[in-house]
Amino acid sequence: MKIVVCIKQVPDTKGGVKFNPDGTLDRAGMLAIMNPDDKAGLEAALRIKDETGAEVTVVTMGLPKADDVLREAMAMGADKAILVTDRVLGGADTWATSTTIAGALRNIDYDLIITGRQAIDGDTAQVGPQIAEHLGIPVISYAADIKVEGDSIIVKRQYEDRYHELKAKMPCLVTALSELNVPRYMTPGGIFDAYDKEVTVWGRKDLKDVDDGDIGLAGSPTKIAKASDKVRKGAGEKVVLDPTESVAYIMGKLKERHVI
Ligand SMILES: Cc1cc2nc3c(=O)[nH]c(=O)nc-3n(C[C@H](O)[C@H](O)[C@H](O)COP(=O)(O)OP(=O)(O)OC[C@H]3O[C@@H](n4cnc5c(N)ncnc54)[C@H](O)[C@@H]3O)c2cc1C
Repeated sequence: MKIVVCIKQVPDTKGGVKFNPDGTLDRAGMLAIMNPDDKAGLEAALRIKDETGAEVTVVTMGLPKADDVLREAMAMGADKAILVTDRVLGGADTWATSTTIAGALRNIDYDLIITGRQAIDGDTAQVGPQIAEHLGIPVISYAADIKVEGDSIIVKRQYEDRYHELKAKMPCLVTALSELNVPRYMTPGGIFDAYDKEVTVWGRKDLKDVDDGDIGLAGSPTKIAKASDKVRKGAGEKVVLDPTESVAYIMGKLKERHVI
């Protein structure tokens, strides 16, 4: 069985988000990490590998420094890594990103593709289902559990108030939730091995069945018309009153503003 996991290098937003003066994200000013949903997807793939001996390949599209997340994935146990990088791919929106990744995946064999549900920077949750659409394979999103049964995959799909159990014949694509599992740590041996292994680097010329009009900034139908900070509300008015006075006070304010 061959599993591909799509991983994205994202800025670590835990310590707060930094912006450039022009309103764009200050990526250089923040630590870069493996997107959390993707790490859970990788862990799910590695558990299937532990059970069945499957081969796990990780793929990322990004700047050359995205090599770091691929090495991290190999130190966790991934067998192969592919970095898709090229100047003409820069500025891609979700359409151009998924077109590019699908173009790369057409070069390799896969039974199961796992992506994260969403990236913590772009946050659209569009790339996984779009890749499946480009490749003409079924997709199951929001996976809270993944099991292999013969040539099919059984996924517990999370809804707001319930789960659905869905079965799909492979090849198919699953989008993983970070709640899926607790990812393993890299092992010291794995870290050494990861730096001995080769990362396959592909550029524009290696993408299969992809038009120039569907990649990079020029091939991105999404345009950012305006970026602005969230308007912060003031501290409001603070009053100290007993419960009876509070009711009268609030009712008075609501009447004053014609709310009631
Ligand atoms: C006009 C425009 C210009 C942009 N320019 C840039 C830019 O220059 N640099 C930049 O970093 N972003 C840029 N973006 C943001 C970019 O659109 C998104 O980051 C990207 O398309 C992925 O969307 P997302 O983050 O919402 O991913 P989601 O759809 O939320 O991601 C879902 C899953 O898809 C997979 N995935 C997503 N992206 C990748 C990837 N690159 N490699 C491997 N797997 C992936 C992961 O498994 C991820 O968990 C730009 C956006 C627009 C609209």
